[in-house]
Amino acid sequence: MTAAKIPAKGTVKVVEEPIPQPKKGEVLIKMKASALCRSDLHRYHGVQIFEETEDEKNITPGHEPCGIVEQLGEGVSKVKKGERVAIYLGLTCGTCPDCLRGDLVLCPEFKCIGFAVNGAHADYMTIPEENCLPLPEGMDFITGALATDVGGTLYTACKRVGLNGTKTVVIIGCGPMGSGGILIARGFGARVIAVDMDEERLKLALELGAEHVINPQKTDAVKKIKELCGGRGADAAIVTAGGNTPLNTALNCVRPRGQVALIAESNNATIDPSNQFVRTLIELKGCWYFNRSDWEEISRFIVDRKICLKKISSDTFPISEAAKAFPLFDSGKTQKVVFLWD
Ligand SMILES: [Zn+2]
Ligand SMILES: [Zn+2]
Repeated sequence: MTAAKIPAKGTVKVVEEPIPQPKKGEVLIKMKASALCRSDLHRYHGVQIFEETEDEKNITPGHEPCGIVEQLGEGVSKVKKGERVAIYLGLTCGTCPDCLRGDLVLCPEFKCIGFAVNGAHADYMTIPEENCLPLPEGMDFITGALATDVGGTLYTACKRVGLNGTKTVVIIGCGPMGSGGILIARGFGARVIAVDMDEERLKLALELGAEHVINPQKTDAVKKIKELCGGRGADAAIVTAGGNTPLNTALNCVRPRGQVALIAESNNATIDPSNQFVRTLIELKGCWYFNRSDWEEISRFIVDRKICLKKISSDTFPISEAAKAFPLFDSGKTQKVVFLWD
């Protein structure tokens, strides 16, 4: 089978290797769609973001997969051959208090496919059967792949900041996460204000349903948002761009008792606790991925609300062209780049 590898910083190679055999409790997935993610680029840039358990250079990247169950390992009972599935990216212990509560993302032994074990940028991969997320009827493979990260993460963030038809949310950063967030926030019925420094991304944000877009290089974003929200501020903000300014824009643009969901990773930021939290009762919520038990709700929402996540798939490639796909995605000029199989 064909698989993409990152043998060295800035290098992507397409290799041929044997199709893996599913071990006890695992299934073999024939890949149909596998999306590139910003975290794949960390490996491409030589930055380690998870603890690795095998030789990183040999591990196939890819953690946003969707495909068909091709073969069942010994003892597999819940998944059937031929089933259409998306794949949950986390491998967890299953027995710690967090796992038992369903908070898999908090498991101290959380490992990510495509980092700790071979991932999805390949014709086939093996995965424990419990990581298979059934694709509902009406959900295509690209949407399924995009739902495994952007869809699930943004659905969870929108829910945690309490969006509904009476709320205005500011989405800060209109890359794939922010763009997916606009679609999902609209699905919740919320009014969306989108903020980004790239005019092309703002154009797309309007097409995806944002009511207003703001380029903070041209306009005072906080002032404009307050104007658009009766002077008081937005009900909620979702931060999908890293760094000091996006986070502070969010904290300064929401109203008292407003809710801010922080998705973007940043190593440090300077905030003003007294003014931004103590005297405003604003809540800041860290959001990282989603729990497997939420999949049914997330996938039903995407299908029933007709959330067209496909609109944020800007470029597709066969896996044989992985060496072209990575630098294009790294250029920051695309939305989601997705590998597709016939
Ligand atoms: Zn991802
Ligand atoms: Zn655990």
